[in-house]
Amino acid sequence: MDYRKQFFVSPDKKLKLAAIDPAHTAGHASSEEALPAIQKNVARMAELQALLYADGNQSLLVVLQALDAAGKDGVVRHLFSGMNPQGTSVFGFKQPSAEEAAHDFLWRAHKRTPARGEIVVFNRSHYEDVLVVRVHNLVPKPVWSGRYELIQDFEKLLVANGTRILKFFLHISPEEQLARFKQRLDDPARNWKISEGDYSEREFWSDYVEAYEEALSKTSSKDAPWYVIPANHKWFRNLAISQIITETMEDMGLKRPATRVDLKEITAKYHAAEVEQAKRNGKG
Ligand code: AMP
Ligand code: MG
Repeated sequence: MDYRKQFFVSPDKKLKLAAIDPAHTAGHASSEEALPAIQKNVARMAELQALLYADGNQSLLVVLQALDAAGKDGVVRHLFSGMNPQGTSVFGFKQPSAEEAAHDFLWRAHKRTPARGEIVVFNRSHYEDVLVVRVHNLVPKPVWSGRYELIQDFEKLLVANGTRILKFFLHISPEEQLARFKQRLDDPARNWKISEGDYSEREFWSDYVEAYEEALSKTSSKDAPWYVIPANHKWFRNLAISQIITETMEDMGLKRPATRVDLKEITAKYHAAEVEQAKRNGKG
């Protein structure tokens, strides 16, 4: 299944989230059935991350956006925890600090973009500035509506500098969100995640849908694609995202740098001596 084709948000037509089933599983029957493919992808992602690091010429930025409880943290935990922490990082975007708010909205995002060889995951992102900010009128409309173009230019700059960008919207239904909030209530280990704000934000569901539809359509492109991932089933969400990341990284043409020394010469010069030394130590 070509998830990159299936879930890509076309920049040419208006996105209608209501037309996408959040419980879609692309014909897969169950978590058990999908698990081997997820595990294979996660293992391959770890290999590709090591290769990206060794190659040192490109980077990968993964943007995760969604309403509460859609699974952003789960994606980070399930798909990225196998990677080497040297070269991988996750950054969560909260309400801007006073210092962040005193700068342009892209400042804090730009500070966290991946250096060559690195993978960075944005758990929420610069897109909050056309989402929560729009829904709650935190800045006037002419300000947020000018940001789509600024975001496009920002992402173009990153792409021109060797960064691959993948953006995922985790699509869940309001019913599934409420069920997940209830699980948090029932699980003492996760009580801390509950805030009343999470419930009150549900009143703005249709405003968020509208904000997401416009943001995703206006900022999806071949070079910085958005994917709408059906996410009512956590296992399908993990399968689709891991598949898209793996395929994208396979296409990046990553290579280990050429060896800089003559391996035979080095072996003869240093390791022969080591063997000799060991022999002498043995005798002595
Ligand atoms: P959480 O992801 O649950 O830790 O919550 C982070 C909160 O920060 C969410 O409610 C976001 O909507 C909020 N947030 C993130 N970025 C911004 C922003 N630029 N302006 C206002 N609120 C934001
Ligand atoms: Mg939250």
